Amino acid sequence: MQTFKERALELLPELKELSQYIYDNPELGYEEFLSSKAHIDMLEKYGFEMELSPLDMETAYVARYRGDKPGITMAYLAEYDALPGIGHGCGHNILGATALGAALVLKDYVKEKGGTLVLFGTPAEETSGAKVAFADHGYFKDVDVAICPHPSDYYFSSGKSLALAPIEFTFKGKTAHAASEPQAGINALDALLLTFNNVNALREHILPSARVHGIVKEGGLAANIVPEKSVGEFYVRTMTLDYMEELLEKVINCAKAGALATGCTMEYRDYEARYHNMVTNQTLSDHYDGLLEEMGVEVTPPRESFGSLDMGNVSQVCPSINPYFGISDHPIPGHTVEFRDATLTDLAMEGMINTIVAMVKAMVDCNEDPALLAAVKEEFENRKR
Ligand SMILES: [Zn+2]
Ligand SMILES: [Zn+2]
Repeated sequence: MQTFKERALELLPELKELSQYIYDNPELGYEEFLSSKAHIDMLEKYGFEMELSPLDMETAYVARYRGDKPGITMAYLAEYDALPGIGHGCGHNILGATALGAALVLKDYVKEKGGTLVLFGTPAEETSGAKVAFADHGYFKDVDVAICPHPSDYYFSSGKSLALAPIEFTFKGKTAHAASEPQAGINALDALLLTFNNVNALREHILPSARVHGIVKEGGLAANIVPEKSVGEFYVRTMTLDYMEELLEKVINCAKAGALATGCTMEYRDYEARYHNMVTNQTLSDHYDGLLEEMGVEVTPPRESFGSLDMGNVSQVCPSINPYFGISDHPIPGHTVEFRDATLTDLAMEGMINTIVAMVKAMVDCNEDPALLAAVKEEFENRKR
């Protein structure tokens, strides 16, 4: 039988073409029509059972392949959304091709040895990620293990990400002539500015790992009219969901105080999907890194600085890792043109092949080694939110 690496190399020309095509046609979140179609066409060609437009998300898909023999359910996640202005500056063209490649290689194993393979096509990672909807609607209920790979300059172990709550405050007051009758007005902009000041005071007393940052979306129409409406958007980020609840309540109190001080009304809502913090399954992550090291790949400990990922929501409902694979021999920051272009290099192709092999072997080992799977599951059950 062919080795996993031989199979991956055999598929490389097609995967390279897929990554190049998506690079050439960058599409923003939930508008990835060409990109998702390219994925779907390839998966149909290789005999996957397709669920199209799941949960009314037109550019998402779920591809399944069920073996005849019993086994675990193994999930990979693919992304393919781009950034405004710089196209695939986050490298989701190669991310998607890598996850899809791993699914094609693992399919041959599942056919022969059993189990179920699921590949999720997940739009809009950069904005209001589709993984949140999949996680909320039980799509990972039966999944035993999930892996989403991400390109980076070097190989990094799967790490943490911050939980994120996008909260919008709307204040309403009353217009009046700002000079001749200010006493008749209720100033909604002041309510929002006080909110910012209150948040700044709060910041001194929050955990250093937490972040609160915001903008003024609407702040009035003219300097001679007392602003009757203001809108502010904030991101509140924390290391854990428990602390998120605590901090969010304090931030909302900051806005309530602004409203009380000015006599405005205040309403708030989530204006995008909430991302949960990433909980890396360390057992699975160590095993995965070990597989790469056996192949002679150097894996660096997780990065110290982090944003938020929609993979976090998946990691809260099934054992998951989000490892980074190297596509460069020198440091390149993400979300840049340089990073985008690095996804097309020979080094990137090497990173893709190494990652596909490790992703497949990790799943095979979980399927065949009950002690490994039990350790992964036990860690998941005892995880910290
Ligand atoms: Zn990104
Ligand atoms: Zn990304």
